[in-house]
Amino acid sequence: MRYDVVIVGGGASGLACAITLASSQGRGWEWAEGRKFLVIDNGKSDLNRALLKNAPGVPVETLGTELLEKLREQAKALSENVDFVEDTVVKVEGEKGSFKVHTQSGNVYEAEYVVLASGFHKFEIECEGVEVVDNPKSPKPGRVMIKHDGDYKVREGLYVAGLLAGVSSMFTAAAGSGVQVAINILSEWAGKPIVIHDVPKKD
Ligand SMILES: Cc1cc2nc3c(=O)[nH]c(=O)nc-3n(C[C@H](O)[C@H](O)[C@H](O)COP(=O)(O)OP(=O)(O)OC[C@H]3O[C@@H](n4cnc5c(N)ncnc54)[C@H](O)[C@@H]3O)c2cc1C
Repeated sequence: MRYDVVIVGGGASGLACAITLASSQGRGWEWAEGRKFLVIDNGKSDLNRALLKNAPGVPVETLGTELLEKLREQAKALSENVDFVEDTVVKVEGEKGSFKVHTQSGNVYEAEYVVLASGFHKFEIECEGVEVVDNPKSPKPGRVMIKHDGDYKVREGLYVAGLLAGVSSMFTAAAGSGVQVAINILSEWAGKPIVIHDVPKKD
């Protein structure tokens, strides 16, 4: 199975990345049309334990589990080109345009781009060219991040988002980095800086 972007981790950052990628569809942008996206997730987002009171735009006392469901629904509502798989990624190999993402259940997904969004608790995925270091923004010791170029690129075709990218452990910071990664990928496809801003229809 081949995808344009495989996102490893369907928490705050991975789903935010998927939503922004999905929102590139149906706009008549020939470089974006028909792109396929996959989120592979094993269900352990930190949001599962959260009760959110301070996430901008999210109603006070929203359960993290509800927010996760809403984010998945939003991605699906924006495009039918986003697939979701429950599985654990064990290995990422290859290069931009020809990555292979291997899962515990034995599936292999091919991808042009891979986004690592698997949180900061540990990084046990076999993956060439990633440097895993201590996470200086973590409130607790023992958390990790992957070094990147300052704009979330680890190497060509390989991006990192969320707490694994070293952003602060707040929902919006994690989600924002996922959005930035999506915009970076879309801008690479377009060959120019891209934003996606919608406006109300005029009467
Ligand atoms: C108890 C608690 C309360 C919180 N309260 C708040 C709050 O009030 N306000 C706030 O702003 N933030 C809060 N947060 C922080 C917020 O939950 C995190 O900032 C956010 O979830 C981080 O997003 P992320 O995408 O980096 O990681 P996560 O959301 O943790 O997502 C990572 C995903 O990757 C998956 N994954 C990991 N490894 C693999 C693999 N090998 N293959 C496939 N999938 C994999 C995991 O299952 C998980 O779903 C709270 C966190 C906790 C723990």
